[in-house]
Amino acid sequence: MRPDPDALLNWYDRHRRAMPWRDSGRDPYHVWLSEVMLQQTTVATVGPRFRRFLEKFPTVAALAAAEDAAVMEEWAGLGYYARARNLLAGARAVVALGGFPRSVEGLRELPGVGPYTAAAVGAIAFDLPVVPLDGNVERVMARVHAVREPLPGAKPRLAALAQDSMQDAAARARPGDFVQALFDLGATICTPRTPACALCPWRGGCAAQAGGFAAELPAKAAKKDRPLRHGAHFLLKDADGLVLVRRRPPKGLLGGMLEIPGTPWRDQPWGEAEALAHAPVAGLAWQRLPGLAQHGFTHFQLEMALYLATVPRLVAPDGFEARPLDGLAPALPTAMRRVLALAGG
Ligand code: SF4
Repeated sequence: MRPDPDALLNWYDRHRRAMPWRDSGRDPYHVWLSEVMLQQTTVATVGPRFRRFLEKFPTVAALAAAEDAAVMEEWAGLGYYARARNLLAGARAVVALGGFPRSVEGLRELPGVGPYTAAAVGAIAFDLPVVPLDGNVERVMARVHAVREPLPGAKPRLAALAQDSMQDAAARARPGDFVQALFDLGATICTPRTPACALCPWRGGCAAQAGGFAAELPAKAAKKDRPLRHGAHFLLKDADGLVLVRRRPPKGLLGGMLEIPGTPWRDQPWGEAEALAHAPVAGLAWQRLPGLAQHGFTHFQLEMALYLATVPRLVAPDGFEARPLDGLAPALPTAMRRVLALAGG
């Protein structure tokens, strides 16, 4: 028996989660912003950040007109900073086009918009009959259809099953709601460890539930260990509470974000003398602070040491900025906040 889209939509009408971006009449800018923020970031974190971002950049035109640095600083702490750079480039493209494209193909042509985001904006903002495949939808599809092939290899099959679920007339009558209902089902009922099958509107048509192995799916291929990299950073302070920071190059990891200056990140730990050769100002009494800051990136784990020096009055060399330490942390990416925490900041 196939799962019944009507049952899912009826459940959604009663139990949908309240989300700030669901109050805005499906404004494509709001839908797009929320979907970009939600990639790799939890709903609980995104809620307040979404509202704050819209206070600063209330329309796609306001975002398109913003300074790059202002957008990067507003994104600080959310991680995966390429998302913010792409959002800005996308906003400029939307303004140049005179509005959002209303097809999945058109949305895909915006900078940084991949198949998932194009389908999410297309379905939720424009009611196009497409299903974006996120982790929630993957899990629900794997269970309902008892797909035992492990992820990520199973993705094409799960995507086809998800798209197939949109063929039903009830789903096609309300594509945006159907997609959000799948998201909500995965997030609140069909959860990773202990699915609440007794409360599920699809329990009658779910193969994994019938077989008693729902919690085992989706199967996942074994993960490789992330390699460890090492860096050393340099906090230069003055008597007025200014510290030296620099902006990373626009492309690459943490591109365009502020950082506490440091060495490159490499596979071997840095000895003190070779680390100090990268200090932004030479000849100072740099002191190594106790401890190491840890941060996990997608492809590696990073350990960072911190050296501290003070001067009476800070004058930023070319390529650096002097900023008040007070209030600096929110403008930094999380990895740099962790470094700063070694100094009690
Ligand atoms: S019956 Fe259980 S396993 Fe199947 S979709 Fe519902 S919550 Fe998920």
